[in-house]
Amino acid sequence: MNAARRIACKFGGTSLADAACVRRVVEIIQSDPARRWVVPSAPGKRDPKDRKITDLLYTWHTMALQGLDPSEPMNIIRDRFLELARELGVRFDVASILDEIAARAGQDQAPDYMASRGEYINGRLLAEVLGATFVDPAECIRFDKSGRLDPVTYSLLAERLQGDGRFVVPGFYGAMPDGSIRTFSRGGSDISGAIVARAIQADLYENWTDVNGFCMADPRIVPNPKRIVEVTYAELRELSYMGATVLHDEAIFPVREPGIPIHIRNTWDPDGGGTLIVTERKAATPVCGIAGRTGFTMINLAKTLMNKEKGFGLRVLQVLDEFGISWEHIPTGIDTMSIILRNEELKDQGEAVLEAIRARVNPDESSITSGLAMLATVGQGMNHHIGVAARLTGALARAGVNIRVIDQGSSEMNIIVGVEEDDFAAAMRAIYNEFSKDEP
Ligand code: ASP
Repeated sequence: MNAARRIACKFGGTSLADAACVRRVVEIIQSDPARRWVVPSAPGKRDPKDRKITDLLYTWHTMALQGLDPSEPMNIIRDRFLELARELGVRFDVASILDEIAARAGQDQAPDYMASRGEYINGRLLAEVLGATFVDPAECIRFDKSGRLDPVTYSLLAERLQGDGRFVVPGFYGAMPDGSIRTFSRGGSDISGAIVARAIQADLYENWTDVNGFCMADPRIVPNPKRIVEVTYAELRELSYMGATVLHDEAIFPVREPGIPIHIRNTWDPDGGGTLIVTERKAATPVCGIAGRTGFTMINLAKTLMNKEKGFGLRVLQVLDEFGISWEHIPTGIDTMSIILRNEELKDQGEAVLEAIRARVNPDESSITSGLAMLATVGQGMNHHIGVAARLTGALARAGVNIRVIDQGSSEMNIIVGVEEDDFAAAMRAIYNEFSKDEP
């Protein structure tokens, strides 16, 4: 006999922006009896000019903390939730929850309690509309003293989420050992959804958003790129230059180990297919996506017999450590070593870092190159697949793009090229055009 399927589903802010959206979400949830564990975000933007409730809550907190009059953000939040409650016909007293929040505004230094209230109220509303059990993550999602997720969370949640019927667990927050509210980083409801999926041993984690999943390349650069139908957890990590606009980049960790697939789906186009994130991909195409971004700097070092000088690399990296800077890539030659860093990590410390490295390892030559863009061409299918790099470099050559640096990770599923920022768009289009033809 087949055990009943278990689906944890997370709905993002734009999927819950107003009453019409909520009704649509309710329809989606009720259309599959397996969708019993629901994780909502706070209401998002109703149109591009609108404001997110979470942003307003942060503003409210900051103003209250500084002794300014926060009535503007407070009233917008109040009006939106009261309107939502009225239009959805919920009976519980939303106004008194808002009063409680107002009474507490400005009391805590940290914004976490205030920021979490968007998810809290939205969760209460959704639970009532669905006739579901509301489970407050303050009682079962735990952080340890250093702010990391405490694994006890899984058993606490599993206990609260068993039994019949549906459950609503608001996203974005949990509690510290002393009971105070703590949020994940922005967009963290995706992480909450993954945690709930793992706790209930879900067959599937559905992440409902406002796009049809991941694109093979950045749609701002490549017009109408193909959708990534399937991608592995590992490939998605390598595609992290895409940024976390579709899915929080920490959301895969809770589900990756038990192998629970994540299905990114579009609330406004449920039949659009979406992107499925899995352990193993069925299709054997070498490349599943291309991700890239501008804003990198490269430190170049050359020293004769560098390869024989023990501890050279260590001493260079020690300097970065002392400056509190993390690095992205380290392509090396026999007598050369380059370190590629994000500008936002390096800030304006480039010359100071270089000076410190010179003092520490005394290179023959050293310089800094800024204005680099990095592109990651990713696919598990390139492992043992001959000719992928040749196709990639050929496509770039035909597009007239000079490759400044090239690096293939040992995972053999990612070829990274660095190009001048001015060549970034041409490079992205050239690589996409070359490899997208392999996809159906
Ligand atoms: N509402 C939170 C944010 O805007 C968390 C989330 O939506 O995932 O960051």
